[in-house]
Amino acid sequence: MIEGIVHLEPHVCRHCLSRVVSRDGEFFCSGCGVTCNGKPHGICGCGASINGVRKRAAPFRCGLNPNRGPRSPANFVVLFEGIPAILTPLT
Ligand SMILES: [Zn+2]
Ligand SMILES: [Zn+2]
Repeated sequence: MIEGIVHLEPHVCRHCLSRVVSRDGEFFCSGCGVTCNGKPHGICGCGASINGVRKRAAPFRCGLNPNRGPRSPANFVVLFEGIPAILTPLT
């Protein structure tokens, strides 16, 4: 449970695709609860790896969902070259 004033970040968790929130410079996943200090990129989809291999130029980034609708209700998603990526949440 996250208490206090939190800010919704324009990033989503790379593990469970839930929205990332921040408080006092610490970033949290609102879904699975992973945390990261200073910047969200340790837990968000920006720089997500492919098959466990981090590619320096991996074109993943978090962004506004361009196809928001009943089948994809999330505000923010992980985009792959601008297209929503179907990421299998890591376990
Ligand atoms: Zn998560
Ligand atoms: Zn991100």
